[in-house]
Amino acid sequence: MYYPFSWFRSLSRLAVILAGAAAVGGYLDALFETLALVTLMLLGWHYWQLYRLHRWLWHSKKMTPPRTRGVWEHIYEGVYYLQRRNRNKRKELGALVKRFREGSEALPDAAVVVDAASCIVWCNRLARIELGLRWPDDAGRRIDNLIRHPEFIEFFHQGHFDHPIAITSPTNMEKILEYRMMPYGEQHILLVARDITRISQLEDMRKDFVANVSHELRTPLTVLNGYLEMFAGGTQSMPDEFVRKAFTEMSEQSVRMQSLVEQLLVLSRIEASSERIYEKMVDVPAQMQTIESEAQTLNKEKGHQIEFHIDPNVKVFGVETELRSAFSNLIFNAVHYTPNGGHIRVDWRLEQGQARFSVTDNGEGIAERHLARLTERFYRVDKARSRKTGGSGLGLAIVKHVLSHHNSKLEISSEVGKGSCFSFRFSPELTVVSSEEAQR
Ligand code: ADP
Repeated sequence: MYYPFSWFRSLSRLAVILAGAAAVGGYLDALFETLALVTLMLLGWHYWQLYRLHRWLWHSKKMTPPRTRGVWEHIYEGVYYLQRRNRNKRKELGALVKRFREGSEALPDAAVVVDAASCIVWCNRLARIELGLRWPDDAGRRIDNLIRHPEFIEFFHQGHFDHPIAITSPTNMEKILEYRMMPYGEQHILLVARDITRISQLEDMRKDFVANVSHELRTPLTVLNGYLEMFAGGTQSMPDEFVRKAFTEMSEQSVRMQSLVEQLLVLSRIEASSERIYEKMVDVPAQMQTIESEAQTLNKEKGHQIEFHIDPNVKVFGVETELRSAFSNLIFNAVHYTPNGGHIRVDWRLEQGQARFSVTDNGEGIAERHLARLTERFYRVDKARSRKTGGSGLGLAIVKHVLSHHNSKLEISSEVGKGSCFSFRFSPELTVVSSEEAQR
């Protein structure tokens, strides 16, 4: 029969034993000796219970505790209850881990968990296939010792995991994998690798198609343009008003088409550009002088007040033609889209060790909803007006690609009725200040 534990019952039992011992001791006239003997026997019994507990915990295969009585019965039951509870918890956790592992095995991507010391904690089946990892042999090995691609190692050590990288698979050179790293918990990282071979092939096909079409259209357009220019000179002498109008329109549209094709080609070239940006220094202040005189020519009709504030000591590493295209697109856009007599300010200066370019105008501004889409190809806020200015909607797409090639990003702030500011900055590694030049 199991009774719940009670201090009162335990102490009463002890009192009864000691009283019995005292009575017997008094009767035998050996009170102290009898009490000492009974206390020793009690101590011996407790040690015996301790010994049984130790044997049961460490050496017995039986789950159920040995039978006993009194306070030790409660201790055994308590330990047995804790063991059962832990066993159930372990079972639940085991089932949870099993479910998680089954779920992650069903992932269409390779997944690897890496700890703070860059060692592999766990990986799924696809990681073994796509990344060539062996499980469990590679558990505890450094991931950068197993995936040896230099780009991967640089990406992993840089620790900037806000963007993915695409590199060839370590097991198959024809496959392209996109690696994403997601830090979580106590400096653990979840690495996910996805096969993007097909997407990247399609992307290459798209780029090739645009580049080829633009290239093929160039020659027929040049011929058409040539003839139209020849005839255009003689439109005054043409008898029919309709024919005259048609020739003028054809000339204008063919020029527009030619500039569209040229811009598409520029965009394709920049997209496919593998030119190294750290090799050549670009003299931006000198470029600005040329662009300023071109902008003033363009400004003749518009009559804007254009100010150039250029720091002659600030230069950058980059691709000269690409940067020129980015600067001029932004400056000419400000000239085109600011209503006559506006104010345009161009700045090129050093800010916290970074070269910063900005064009600010007091034109009509751009509504918030357009801002995120402005750098998309062919996106125009006002198609009719943009067409009138000869705009193709490719200018800002070109700027975006140039900047992404130079590890930078276009920032646009604009307020309707007040004007716009287009700006970007170069990282300190790309920025060169004249005093540093001699040291480089
Ligand atoms: P486009 O060749 O048509 O100028 P862009 O890509 O250069 O194409 O510009 C996209 C659109 O952004 C333009 O159609 C225009 O509406 C708007 N835009 C660009 N720059 C400015 C500016 N400085 N002020 C107002 N709108 C601008």
